[in-house]
Parts: sequence; structure tokens; C-alpha cells
Amino acid sequence: MLDSLRRIVQEVNTAASLREVLNIIVARVRSAMDTEVCSVYLREGKEHFALMATEGLRAEAIGKVRLERGEGLVGLVAAREEPLNLDKADSHKAYRYFPETGEEVFSSFLGVPIIHHRQVLGVLVVQETKNRKFDEGEEAFLVTMSAQLAAVIAHAEATGGLAEIGQKAEARFLGVGGAPGVAIGKCVVITPVADLKAVPFAKSDDVDAELQYFYDSIEAVKKDISGLSAQLESHLNKEERILFDAYAGLLDDASVGGEVAERIRSGLSAQYAWSEVILEHVAVFSRMDDPYLRERASDVRDLGARVLAYLQQASPEDKQYPDNTVLVGEELTASNLAEVPVDKLAGIVSIRGSSNSHIAILARSLGIPTVMGAVDLPFTRLEGHEIVVDGYRGAVYSDPSEQVRVHYEEILNEDKQLVASLESIKDLPCETVDKHRVELWVNTGLVADAMLSLERGAEGVGLYRTEIPFMLRERFPSEEEQRVVYREQLSTFAPRMVTMRTLDIGGDKALPYFPISEDNPFLGWRGIRVTLDHPEIFLGQVRAMLKASEGLDNLRIMLPMISNVPELEVALMLIYRAYDEIKDEGYEVKMPPVGVMIEVPAAVYQIDAIADRVDFLSVGSNDLTQYLLAVDRNNPRVADLYHSLHPAVLKALATIAADARAKNTPVSVCGELAGDPAAALLLVGMGYDMLSMNATNLLKVKSVIRAVSSEQIRILLSDVLGLTDAPSVNRRLEEAFKRAGLSRVMRFGSESHFVD
Ligand code: PEP
Ligand code: MG
Repeated sequence: MLDSLRRIVQEVNTAASLREVLNIIVARVRSAMDTEVCSVYLREGKEHFALMATEGLRAEAIGKVRLERGEGLVGLVAAREEPLNLDKADSHKAYRYFPETGEEVFSSFLGVPIIHHRQVLGVLVVQETKNRKFDEGEEAFLVTMSAQLAAVIAHAEATGGLAEIGQKAEARFLGVGGAPGVAIGKCVVITPVADLKAVPFAKSDDVDAELQYFYDSIEAVKKDISGLSAQLESHLNKEERILFDAYAGLLDDASVGGEVAERIRSGLSAQYAWSEVILEHVAVFSRMDDPYLRERASDVRDLGARVLAYLQQASPEDKQYPDNTVLVGEELTASNLAEVPVDKLAGIVSIRGSSNSHIAILARSLGIPTVMGAVDLPFTRLEGHEIVVDGYRGAVYSDPSEQVRVHYEEILNEDKQLVASLESIKDLPCETVDKHRVELWVNTGLVADAMLSLERGAEGVGLYRTEIPFMLRERFPSEEEQRVVYREQLSTFAPRMVTMRTLDIGGDKALPYFPISEDNPFLGWRGIRVTLDHPEIFLGQVRAMLKASEGLDNLRIMLPMISNVPELEVALMLIYRAYDEIKDEGYEVKMPPVGVMIEVPAAVYQIDAIADRVDFLSVGSNDLTQYLLAVDRNNPRVADLYHSLHPAVLKALATIAADARAKNTPVSVCGELAGDPAAALLLVGMGYDMLSMNATNLLKVKSVIRAVSSEQIRILLSDVLGLTDAPSVNRRLEEAFKRAGLSRVMRFGSESHFVD
């Protein structure tokens, strides 16, 4: 059973269209369960279900039989959202007869709902002439099948909008808002190397050149394979050597090679033609019954990736970034962003990740509208297409209609006007109407956000993410290379203080040259855990920071991911050691203040002990939220559970502020929450002295704080702390903002809770 389940899902996953998905399902499920009928009904609109594929009922009925939710047996399964297993279907009171199906001969009926993200997408049905109830095992099989197929069907439905390559029709895809704002621009697709499924659809103007790339790549791979075969010669028996030859033989003109060449001649790019043909062959192999032949699918895939890698080298495209570039990719990195000239980058769409992934945080600090987790977007077909990115709602429109474009152009203009109107408060202090002063600092990492920060009137840097310069290289930067980068940051902001966080890699922040592969990366080797295990990296970094601060003395050092006191003590010991070394080497530097990020629940309960050992605390609310709520910040599937205004998070924040104040230790927030105008008010009410945020939100936060009194904040906070769930907190804040006439600013919040 498990084997047939796995095979069906595998096969369905390689299907090219929704129609093919459904046909595979009905054929394979019918044969695996040995029933006479298997059909799929899919939802049309909100309330109707239509027969979309069948094996066993009359084909003419496809698309004609339609039931309302609650109508007939299929409608009943959909309405009740649970299986219905009957030996005599026609004696059930909900039974409805559709003559065009020819189903009167089938007596037994088993229907299970197909549910994705709590929505009933359709109903999967098997029927038999025999008058019998399906047994428990059969029912469980169909339920399991349906649960596995739901995501594939949802994906195939969503991508169906662009089924015809090149056909330009508007399609909308949903993800989550990663950075607020709207962008209208042209897609530039970023694809990972040698990934067959991510090759963008492209045509070529020069068939001969493409053919040449192709044949050169084939030759290179053949050479590699024969080299490999020679190397292994003494270890291989005759059959295995024959296999090697057969493997290389696939590349010949008489085989796959010929098919690809033909498609290149018809005008496709070599890379696209190759990946298309290989994926078709992989699909054929994975469908085979013989387990040995099925395994060959992975050989073909491997061969495909090898040739593709050469093709990508042979025709290295010099990426062109048009005006209003919208970067689209499966998993974008900081270096992908850094490669685009700042004035050309209008928007970002990432297939993976969520609003608290680091790429989204970077996008927010640059003020680039972003949608994350657009899992259904057929991104490989979008190169050069026009696209609208709605970072407020987390929606993407490919090839937008005139109407949609005009609508978004209006929003874009309103946004520009609001930004311009906020300019006037740039040099005014951030204080409430009764003069309670709050400092607004910024989070930085890229060169571009430092400039933006100064333009927006930042009073210091509350978080400089040092991992970003590490990510933009091909090896660890040397101490001197780091010193130069840190010096630039410190002198750009001097005399304002700059809080440099020690290297915080792991989780979703990978260094290309230092891969960390773990089952639970966010609970694994991250932040301080990595650097304490590699004191040479930690010491080198701290030494570079200290040297860079000479004569400026505006450095603060901050430690990420501290979860216990001994960790902190070892880190402090290393910092003192680095300081002594630097002094001995003749540098005139002051010992910088050292602080700790409170971002692990354990640290929340040890504020006293931590505060005794350091000069300041700063709450990393992004991680603190994920750890308190047990929601991976990078996983779009649970994105709607990641509530930074969850009452538990608010209580933790209030406790941290109170405990830090009791110790007279300055405390700030540097997570994304600080840049959310509504949340910022609550944080001020809790007693945070300083908020550090992305530069884009700084003036919005300032404008809100300047518009209210401490008393209003106090009332709002005590109101909100009495609520039991995040949606209620959001609603209460929304009402308060509406009453105060501040809703306009809220569309700019870092979270989309006030999107109208
Ligand atoms: C945080 O966790 O809130 C934080 C500021 O650090 P990062 O987002 O870089 O993990
Ligand atoms: Mg963090």
C-alpha cells in the first residue's frame, strides 16, 4: 500500500498540467484499490463541485455533472468534510442520480474530501457494482491519498492560469507580505545552478550558437563520464561498465541528445530544451512498474543536472537589470539583492520563505516591496513579464490587466505622497505630545541602507548585521577586510553609536562557503553557538571591530542567541582577551559597551543574571516570537500562526522591560516589531528606551509617537494586555488608530494588519 501511495504521489508530482494530474489520480487509484470507478470532483466557485476526471463513469459526463455543497453524496462529503462509505448508495436520502454518468449500476460508494489549508478543494470517489461497504483499510488508503494529493491539486490549480507558455493573461498568486509597498515592474528570474526544474522558459535568436553550446556541453559531460568510468574501472564488473556506457549513450543524437537538438532548432534555448526533455524522461521512468527501471529516473536526473551545469557555464548570461526590476526566485539571497543596482530594484518575490525570513528583513530595510512564500507562482516562465507586487496584501499579479495596473499606480502615488509628507519631521525629536522622549535607531547591513538611514534622521544603529558582509564573499573575510568594512560603518554614523552584532549565521542565514546542514536549523547550530565553537572566527571579528573603532569610540558589541549565562561568560572573556591584545598592539581604543540580544525564551527568565554582566539588552523579537510560539519564521505554511502581537509575546516583552528597568539596564527592541507603528506605541508604553528598526519605517513610527500622549499610550497598552488573542489585539489597535486619524500611516506598518 505504502509503495503504491508513494508511486502515485511521485508520478502526480511530475505531471505537467492539472488535467494530467487528475487523469493520473483516477487511473492509478482505481488500479491500486482494484475498484471499478474512481472520480475526482473539484470545487468551482465557492459552492459548486464538478466532475473533472473519471475512470469508470462515462467520459461525456466530465464537466457536465455539477452539484452544490450539500447536494447529492458528493456534495454531502464536501459539506461535512468527512468520508462517506455506503454499501447501497441509492438508498441514501441524499443520493442524486445523474443519467449521463451511467452510475446506476454501481452500488457501493466511498467518497473522501480533498482538503488543503482547511478548504475543501474537491471530493475523491471510488465506486463498485458489488453491494458492499469498503473496508477500514481501503477507507484509510483513500483518506491518505487525498491528503497527499490536496497540495498537488492546489498547486496545479493555482498555476493553471499560466498553463500556456507565452500566453499573456493576468493571473494572481498569493503569498505573504514581506515588505510593505507596491511595485510595478519587469521580472528578472534568479535560478539556482543546475536545477532542472528552475530553468526559465526562453527562446533563442541564434539557433546555431545554441546548438554549439549544447554539443560542447554534451562532449564535456561525456568526457567526465568516461574519466569516471576509467577511474573506477578496477572496481566495476562487466555489467556495471555496460551501465556506464548506456548512461553516456543517452547523450547521443539517436537518443535524448537528438530530441533536444530538434527542440533547439524549433527556437527554444538550449537550457530550456534540455531541461524540458530530461524532465519528460524522468516522468516516464518514475511511472514504471519495475522498481529497477523506476530507479533509473534518478540517473537521468543526475545526467540532466550535469549537462545543465555545463550549459549554464557555456552561455553565462550577463544579467540585465531593466528599470523597475522585480527580482523573482525560489530562494533569494543577500548577494542576489546586492547585485542589482539600487535605483533599478523595484520589488522582490520569493517562492520560499516568510515575512520574517532574512531576505524579507533586508528588503524592508531597503524599502523594497516584497512578497514571500508565493509557492504557486510558476516563476520559471515569467522572465521579462510585467508583474505587480503588492507587499501589503502578499499578492502578485503577472501580466496585469489595465484595470489592475491603474489601481496599483494610484496606490504607488499615494505612498509617494505620504513619504514626502513625512520628510518634514525628519529633524524633529521623537517624543510624545507631553515630551516623553524615545530614541529611534536603525538596523543596517547593506551599504544602501546606511545611506537611507541617515537621510531619515536615525539617531544611532541598534543592530548592524555583520553576517551580511560575510554572505557577500566567497570565503571568510580576513581581519583586515572586516576592519575596513566596520570602519566604514562606524565612520558613516559617527558620532552616533553603532551596535555591531557578532556573526549570527545558521537558521536561514547560510554562508556559501560554510554550509550548515541540519534537520532543525533554527534549533541548531546558530549565532553565538557557532562562534563560540570557532573562537578563531569570533576573536578575529571582535579584534576587527575594536581596531575599526579607534579614534571614533562609537562601537557597541552585541551577542546573538544567548541562551545561558556560561555562554555569555565565555563570550565576554573572549572579548576582554581581544581588547587586551589590541591594546598591547598599540591601538588606542576604549572598551566598548557590550550587550546581549534577548531572543530565546530562556533569556527572558534570566534578565537579572544577564543584566548583571552586560551594559545593555536588546530584544530580538523576530526570533523571540518564533521560539515562544513554536512557529518557524521561515515557513510559509505556518506564516499565519506567526503573530508578533500574540498576548504571550506582549507579556514576555513587558516582563523583559520591567526586569531590565529594575536593574537599571538600558533596554531596546531591534526586531521588526519595533518598526511597526502600532507595536512601537505599545513598546514605548512598556518602558523601552530605544527602538531600532528598518530605515523605511523610521519616519512613520516617529509621526505616530509624536501624535499621541503618554496617557493615551498607557490606556491603549493596558487595554491590549487584557486581550487573549492576536486578532483581537490587532483589531483594538486598528480602532485606536482610526479614532486618532492615523490609519493612513498604518498601511505602511511592517506587518499587514491594517491593510484596508
Ligand atoms: C531578531 O531575531 O529579532 C533579530 C533582530 O535578529 P535576526 O532577525 O537577524 O535574527
Ligand atoms: Mg535573531
